[in-house]
Amino acid sequence: MFRAINEKPVIIKAPGKPYKRRTDRNKVRKYRFIVQSLFAALCVWIGTEFYFFVKYLESSGMTYSPYRPPGVEGFLPISSLMSLYHFFLSGEIHPAHPAGFFILVAILAVSLLFGKSFCSWLCPIGFLSEMLGDISDKIFGRRLKLPRFADYPMRSIKYLLLAFFVWSIFFLMTPLALKAFLGSPYNLVADVKMYYFFAEISRTALVIIGVLLLLSLIFRNFWCRYLCPYGALLGILSLLSPNKIKRNPTNCIDCGRCAKVCPSFIGVDRAKTVVSDECTACLNCVDVCPVENTLKYKSVFGRRNISPKMVALGVVLVFILITGWGMVSGNWRNNITTDEYLHHQKLLESYGHPTGAGEISDLNQKANRENNNIK
Ligand code: SF4
Ligand code: SF4
Repeated sequence: MFRAINEKPVIIKAPGKPYKRRTDRNKVRKYRFIVQSLFAALCVWIGTEFYFFVKYLESSGMTYSPYRPPGVEGFLPISSLMSLYHFFLSGEIHPAHPAGFFILVAILAVSLLFGKSFCSWLCPIGFLSEMLGDISDKIFGRRLKLPRFADYPMRSIKYLLLAFFVWSIFFLMTPLALKAFLGSPYNLVADVKMYYFFAEISRTALVIIGVLLLLSLIFRNFWCRYLCPYGALLGILSLLSPNKIKRNPTNCIDCGRCAKVCPSFIGVDRAKTVVSDECTACLNCVDVCPVENTLKYKSVFGRRNISPKMVALGVVLVFILITGWGMVSGNWRNNITTDEYLHHQKLLESYGHPTGAGEISDLNQKANRENNNIK
């Protein structure tokens, strides 16, 4: 019934059932750690380059002109979502933050293929949350979870935030207003504004970040599970992914280890196929399952298993191919000149973004008026 992969099969008597122990476990964390660390290092590198770029702007161009890393646009998800919508409406990649557009498309493609894997394989915030969760496990000796009556409504917060952004962008803004916003001074230097948000962080923001870190230390993945609208979007897309965790109930010995290690508290030990917006394809469950041919990540269309190595390679390759396509097609760098950046730097304080339905309505009217004047 069981097929040995490596040496001599080890048959162990488990309560109720004999089973053949797997000999290829505990590899996933290693693969994920390597991919997560490389991606986090890339983010640190981009952040450092961008720091020197802002310092150059602050010096009014008196120092050596450094390179502005286009990858920083990956940290502008709202602007990138607007660019994507603009692309659907017009077929044009808006030139303000084209790298952000490609990064978003790459992340969406990764989610369609490998579920919400961006969260557990690439996202630096997910990486930090996981490390905090590991510390929490050591401190408390078990995984703490909000009680069910609080967990369910809290999980809907990220969807409400996502709904707010979708409503504001896709329903409140006219195509003209969308284009006007993408080309507005605020959006052009949104990356520099973001830099100052963190470099000159207010006491309130610092307290909020501190509380979130503390909550993530107590409750694993607090930010990701309850508050991240990006994760909410990827969670919805992940439901369309053909690749899922599948359990073979015939072989399963009901040890419950898979459910115990699941960072998303999914009852893997009771499911035949895991269909959940919370599954991040971290493969922790697959990794700990002690029985051969029992818990696998596979396509719902085929019989072939997708090994952790294939997921690691797949996630990285899809990301590199799509962002690389942006680079080789000449669409990676924006068209804002250094002189324009220096000009905007002087006016930075005066730039603000629309903050509600009223201001978006003003933007729509202004865009219409300007369009009529041009005609
Ligand atoms: S079901 Fe498995 S792959 Fe999905 S989040 Fe839980 S442990 Fe990770
Ligand atoms: S699928 Fe889960 S419950 Fe079943 S044997 Fe594997 S780890 Fe144990």
